[in-house]
Amino acid sequence: MSAEERPDKLVLNHVSFAYGRGRETVPVLDGIDLAIREGEFLSVVGPSGCGKSTLLSLLAGLTRPTGGTILLDGREVTGPGVERGIVFQHYSLFPWMTARANIIFGLKQVRSRMSAGEMKALADRHLELVGLGGLGGKFPSQLSGGMQQRVAIARAYAMAPDVLLMDEPFSAVDTKNRVALQELLLRLWDAGETRKTVVFITHDIDEAILLADRVVVMSASNGSILNEFHIPFERPRRRTAVIRGETYVRMRNAVVDLFHEDEEKVMNG
Ligand code: ADP
Ligand code: MG
Repeated sequence: MSAEERPDKLVLNHVSFAYGRGRETVPVLDGIDLAIREGEFLSVVGPSGCGKSTLLSLLAGLTRPTGGTILLDGREVTGPGVERGIVFQHYSLFPWMTARANIIFGLKQVRSRMSAGEMKALADRHLELVGLGGLGGKFPSQLSGGMQQRVAIARAYAMAPDVLLMDEPFSAVDTKNRVALQELLLRLWDAGETRKTVVFITHDIDEAILLADRVVVMSASNGSILNEFHIPFERPRRRTAVIRGETYVRMRNAVVDLFHEDEEKVMNG
Protein backbone atom coordinates (compact mmCIF):
# COMPACT_ATOMS: atom_id res chain seq x y z
CA MET A 1 0.00 0.00 0.00
CA SER A 2 1.42 3.41 -0.88
CA ALA A 3 1.55 6.06 1.80
CA GLU A 4 -1.37 7.95 0.25
CA GLU A 5 -3.64 4.90 0.51
CA ARG A 6 -3.01 4.22 4.18
CA PRO A 7 -5.80 5.19 6.57
CA ASP A 8 -5.50 8.06 9.01
CA LYS A 9 -4.19 6.98 12.39
CA LEU A 10 -4.42 10.22 14.32
CA VAL A 11 -6.63 13.11 13.33
CA LEU A 12 -6.72 16.54 14.91
CA ASN A 13 -9.90 18.43 14.12
CA HIS A 14 -9.55 22.12 14.82
CA VAL A 15 -7.74 21.48 18.07
CA SER A 16 -7.21 24.42 20.40
CA PHE A 17 -5.65 24.61 23.79
CA ALA A 18 -5.26 27.32 26.41
CA TYR A 19 -3.69 27.10 29.86
CA GLY A 20 -5.68 28.49 32.78
CA ARG A 21 -9.31 29.50 33.02
CA GLY A 22 -11.50 32.56 32.72
CA ARG A 23 -9.68 35.84 32.21
CA GLU A 24 -6.33 34.30 32.99
CA THR A 25 -6.18 31.99 29.98
CA VAL A 26 -3.01 31.69 27.92
CA PRO A 27 -3.84 30.48 24.42
CA VAL A 28 -1.23 28.04 23.10
CA LEU A 29 -2.74 26.15 20.17
CA ASP A 30 -5.32 27.64 17.87
CA GLY A 31 -7.41 25.48 15.57
CA ILE A 32 -4.86 22.86 14.53
CA ASP A 33 -6.04 20.59 11.69
CA LEU A 34 -3.74 17.68 11.00
CA ALA A 35 -4.08 14.05 9.91
CA ILE A 36 -1.27 11.58 10.49
CA ARG A 37 -1.41 8.41 8.39
CA GLU A 38 -0.85 4.92 9.69
CA GLY A 39 2.86 4.14 9.45
CA GLU A 40 3.80 7.73 8.80
CA PHE A 41 6.82 9.33 10.44
CA LEU A 42 5.85 12.92 11.13
CA SER A 43 8.20 15.53 12.56
CA VAL A 44 6.83 18.67 14.16
CA VAL A 45 9.37 21.45 14.26
CA GLY A 46 9.02 24.85 15.88
CA PRO A 47 10.84 27.29 18.14
CA SER A 48 10.88 26.93 21.90
CA GLY A 49 7.58 27.88 23.53
CA CYS A 50 5.46 27.51 20.39
CA GLY A 51 3.34 24.71 21.84
CA LYS A 52 5.04 21.51 20.68
CA SER A 53 4.99 19.78 24.07
CA THR A 54 1.42 20.86 24.57
CA LEU A 55 0.51 19.27 21.25
CA LEU A 56 2.24 16.02 22.19
CA SER A 57 0.57 15.96 25.58
CA LEU A 58 -2.81 16.27 23.85
CA LEU A 59 -1.99 13.37 21.51
CA ALA A 60 -0.86 11.33 24.50
CA GLY A 61 -4.16 12.07 26.23
CA LEU A 62 -2.37 13.57 29.23
CA THR A 63 -4.17 16.85 28.53
CA ARG A 64 -7.56 17.46 26.94
CA PRO A 65 -8.08 20.04 24.21
CA THR A 66 -10.07 23.13 25.15
CA GLY A 67 -11.55 23.08 21.65
CA GLY A 68 -11.84 20.55 18.84
CA THR A 69 -11.26 16.81 18.91
CA ILE A 70 -8.46 14.29 18.51
CA LEU A 71 -9.24 10.90 16.98
CA LEU A 72 -7.16 7.74 17.16
CA ASP A 73 -8.34 5.06 14.73
CA GLY A 74 -11.54 7.06 14.45
CA ARG A 75 -12.25 7.13 18.18
CA GLU A 76 -11.91 10.20 20.33
CA VAL A 77 -8.85 10.34 22.57
CA THR A 78 -9.99 10.87 26.15
CA GLY A 79 -6.91 9.73 28.06
CA PRO A 80 -3.61 7.91 27.81
CA GLY A 81 -3.43 4.39 26.36
CA VAL A 82 -0.83 1.68 25.88
CA GLU A 83 -1.21 1.82 22.10
CA ARG A 84 0.62 5.16 22.31
CA GLY A 85 4.21 4.92 23.58
CA ILE A 86 5.86 8.12 24.79
CA VAL A 87 9.49 9.16 25.01
CA PHE A 88 10.21 12.51 26.66
CA GLN A 89 13.38 14.58 26.68
CA HIS A 90 13.98 13.97 30.39
CA TYR A 91 12.61 11.92 33.23
CA SER A 92 11.51 9.07 31.03
CA LEU A 93 12.92 6.44 33.41
CA PHE A 94 12.24 5.70 37.06
CA PRO A 95 15.56 6.46 38.77
CA TRP A 96 15.04 3.85 41.47
CA MET A 97 14.70 1.01 38.97
CA THR A 98 17.40 -0.64 36.86
CA ALA A 99 17.27 -0.29 33.09
CA ARG A 100 15.80 -3.79 32.83
CA ALA A 101 13.23 -3.14 35.58
CA ASN A 102 12.15 0.05 33.79
CA ILE A 103 11.41 -1.97 30.66
CA ILE A 104 9.68 -4.73 32.62
CA PHE A 105 7.54 -2.08 34.32
CA GLY A 106 6.37 -1.03 30.86
CA LEU A 107 5.80 -4.64 29.79
CA LYS A 108 3.59 -5.29 32.81
CA GLN A 109 1.14 -2.69 31.53
CA VAL A 110 0.62 -4.52 28.25
CA ARG A 111 1.50 -8.19 28.84
CA SER A 112 -0.05 -9.05 32.17
CA ARG A 113 -0.05 -12.78 31.34
CA MET A 114 3.63 -12.99 30.47
CA SER A 115 5.86 -14.80 32.98
CA ALA A 116 8.63 -12.98 34.83
CA GLY A 117 11.25 -14.96 32.93
CA GLU A 118 9.75 -14.11 29.57
CA MET A 119 9.57 -10.44 30.51
CA LYS A 120 13.20 -10.42 31.54
CA ALA A 121 14.20 -12.08 28.26
CA LEU A 122 12.13 -9.63 26.24
CA ALA A 123 13.59 -6.68 28.16
CA ASP A 124 17.14 -7.92 27.56
CA ARG A 125 16.44 -8.51 23.88
CA HIS A 126 15.29 -4.91 23.54
CA LEU A 127 18.30 -3.61 25.47
CA GLU A 128 20.48 -5.45 22.96
CA LEU A 129 18.49 -3.97 20.10
CA VAL A 130 19.40 -0.46 21.28
CA GLY A 131 23.04 -1.31 21.85
CA LEU A 132 22.88 -1.77 25.61
CA GLY A 133 23.25 -5.54 25.86
CA GLY A 134 24.60 -6.51 29.28
CA LEU A 135 23.68 -3.22 30.93
CA GLY A 136 20.23 -4.23 32.19
CA GLY A 137 21.37 -4.15 35.81
CA LYS A 138 22.49 -0.51 35.69
CA PHE A 139 20.48 2.27 37.26
CA PRO A 140 19.72 5.40 35.19
CA SER A 141 22.24 7.42 37.25
CA GLN A 142 24.94 4.98 36.12
CA LEU A 143 24.12 5.60 32.45
CA SER A 144 24.87 8.60 30.23
CA GLY A 145 21.97 10.75 29.01
CA GLY A 146 22.20 9.11 25.60
CA MET A 147 22.09 5.64 27.13
CA GLN A 148 19.10 6.58 29.26
CA GLN A 149 17.26 7.64 26.11
CA ARG A 150 18.19 4.31 24.54
CA VAL A 151 16.55 2.56 27.49
CA ALA A 152 13.46 4.75 27.08
CA ILE A 153 13.30 3.80 23.39
CA ALA A 154 13.81 0.12 24.25
CA ARG A 155 10.94 0.31 26.74
CA ALA A 156 8.66 2.01 24.25
CA TYR A 157 9.47 -0.56 21.56
CA ALA A 158 9.11 -3.52 23.93
CA MET A 159 5.56 -2.41 24.69
CA ALA A 160 4.85 -2.64 20.94
CA PRO A 161 2.63 0.43 20.62
CA ASP A 162 1.09 1.38 17.24
CA VAL A 163 2.02 4.99 17.81
CA LEU A 164 5.22 6.44 19.14
CA LEU A 165 5.08 9.99 20.53
CA MET A 166 8.48 11.56 21.06
CA ASP A 167 9.07 14.99 22.59
CA GLU A 168 12.57 16.24 21.77
CA PRO A 169 13.98 12.89 22.86
CA PHE A 170 17.53 13.68 21.73
CA SER A 171 17.73 17.39 22.61
CA ALA A 172 19.69 16.92 25.82
CA VAL A 173 22.24 14.58 24.25
CA ASP A 174 25.63 15.72 22.88
CA THR A 175 26.05 15.93 19.10
CA LYS A 176 27.92 12.68 18.56
CA ASN A 177 25.48 10.61 20.58
CA ARG A 178 22.59 12.48 19.08
CA VAL A 179 23.59 11.36 15.59
CA ALA A 180 23.91 7.78 16.87
CA LEU A 181 20.42 7.97 18.40
CA GLN A 182 18.92 9.34 15.19
CA GLU A 183 20.46 6.45 13.29
CA LEU A 184 19.21 3.99 15.87
CA LEU A 185 15.67 5.31 15.56
CA LEU A 186 15.81 5.16 11.76
CA ARG A 187 17.07 1.60 11.94
CA LEU A 188 14.41 0.45 14.42
CA TRP A 189 11.64 2.13 12.48
CA ASP A 190 12.77 0.68 9.15
CA ALA A 191 13.24 -2.78 10.66
CA GLY A 192 9.72 -3.06 12.06
CA GLU A 193 7.40 -5.59 10.42
CA THR A 194 4.86 -2.82 10.32
CA ARG A 195 6.16 0.68 10.64
CA LYS A 196 4.94 2.57 13.63
CA THR A 197 3.14 5.84 13.32
CA VAL A 198 5.57 8.33 14.83
CA VAL A 199 5.06 11.92 15.93
CA PHE A 200 8.51 13.29 16.59
CA ILE A 201 8.79 16.74 18.14
CA THR A 202 12.01 18.66 17.71
CA HIS A 203 13.35 22.18 17.37
CA ASP A 204 16.16 20.88 15.14
CA ILE A 205 15.40 21.30 11.44
CA ASP A 206 18.09 18.85 10.32
CA GLU A 207 16.82 16.17 12.65
CA ALA A 208 13.24 16.74 11.53
CA ILE A 209 14.12 16.35 7.84
CA LEU A 210 16.48 13.43 8.32
CA LEU A 211 13.93 11.30 10.12
CA ALA A 212 10.52 12.15 8.76
CA ASP A 213 8.23 11.45 5.82
CA ARG A 214 6.66 14.83 6.46
CA VAL A 215 7.71 17.88 8.45
CA VAL A 216 5.10 20.17 9.94
CA VAL A 217 6.35 23.64 10.85
CA MET A 218 4.72 25.55 13.71
CA SER A 219 4.56 29.29 14.11
CA ALA A 220 6.53 30.95 16.91
CA SER A 221 3.62 33.05 17.99
CA ASN A 222 0.10 32.07 17.12
CA GLY A 223 -0.27 28.39 17.88
CA SER A 224 -0.83 27.36 14.30
CA ILE A 225 0.84 25.35 11.58
CA LEU A 226 2.71 27.51 9.07
CA ASN A 227 3.28 24.88 6.42
CA GLU A 228 4.30 21.31 5.81
CA PHE A 229 6.97 19.65 3.70
CA HIS A 230 6.99 16.17 2.21
CA ILE A 231 10.41 14.60 2.57
CA PRO A 232 11.23 12.51 -0.48
CA PHE A 233 14.31 10.54 0.63
CA GLU A 234 14.06 6.79 0.15
CA ARG A 235 13.83 4.20 2.90
CA PRO A 236 15.71 2.62 4.48
CA ARG A 237 17.26 6.00 4.95
CA ARG A 238 20.96 6.58 5.36
CA ARG A 239 22.04 9.81 6.97
CA THR A 240 25.18 10.15 4.86
CA ALA A 241 23.24 9.73 1.62
CA VAL A 242 20.59 12.24 2.68
CA ILE A 243 22.70 15.12 3.93
CA ARG A 244 25.03 15.21 0.92
CA GLY A 245 22.27 15.77 -1.61
CA GLU A 246 21.12 19.07 -3.08
CA THR A 247 17.51 18.24 -2.27
CA TYR A 248 18.37 18.21 1.42
CA VAL A 249 19.92 21.66 1.29
CA ARG A 250 16.92 22.99 -0.61
CA MET A 251 14.41 21.54 1.86
CA ARG A 252 16.40 22.81 4.80
CA ASN A 253 16.54 26.32 3.36
CA ALA A 254 12.82 26.28 2.70
CA VAL A 255 12.12 25.53 6.37
CA VAL A 256 14.63 28.15 7.55
CA ASP A 257 13.06 30.77 5.25
CA LEU A 258 9.64 29.95 6.64
CA PHE A 259 10.88 30.50 10.19
CA HIS A 260 12.44 33.83 9.25
CA GLU A 261 9.27 35.07 7.57
CA ASP A 262 7.27 34.07 10.64
CA GLU A 263 9.77 35.79 12.95
CA GLU A 264 9.59 39.01 10.96
CA LYS A 265 5.82 38.97 11.15
CA VAL A 266 6.03 38.60 14.93
CA MET A 267 8.57 41.45 15.25
CA ASN A 268 6.52 43.79 13.07
CA GLY A 269 3.41 43.01 15.10
P1 ADP B 1 7.35 23.99 23.39
O1 ADP B 1 7.31 22.55 23.77
O2 ADP B 1 7.16 24.25 21.93
O3 ADP B 1 8.60 24.65 23.88
P2 ADP B 1 5.14 24.23 25.27
O4 ADP B 1 4.05 23.45 24.69
O5 ADP B 1 5.91 23.63 26.38
O6 ADP B 1 6.13 24.74 24.10
O7 ADP B 1 4.56 25.61 25.81
C1 ADP B 1 3.79 26.47 24.98
C2 ADP B 1 3.45 27.75 25.74
O8 ADP B 1 2.62 27.44 26.83
C3 ADP B 1 4.67 28.47 26.29
O9 ADP B 1 4.47 29.84 26.11
C4 ADP B 1 4.66 28.10 27.75
O10 ADP B 1 5.22 29.14 28.50
C5 ADP B 1 3.19 27.94 28.04
N1 ADP B 1 2.93 26.96 29.10
C6 ADP B 1 3.42 25.70 29.14
N2 ADP B 1 2.96 25.04 30.23
C7 ADP B 1 2.16 25.92 30.91
C8 ADP B 1 1.39 25.86 32.10
N3 ADP B 1 1.33 24.75 32.83
N4 ADP B 1 0.70 26.98 32.46
C9 ADP B 1 0.74 28.09 31.71
N5 ADP B 1 1.44 28.21 30.58
C10 ADP B 1 2.15 27.15 30.16
MG1 MG C 1 8.73 21.30 24.65
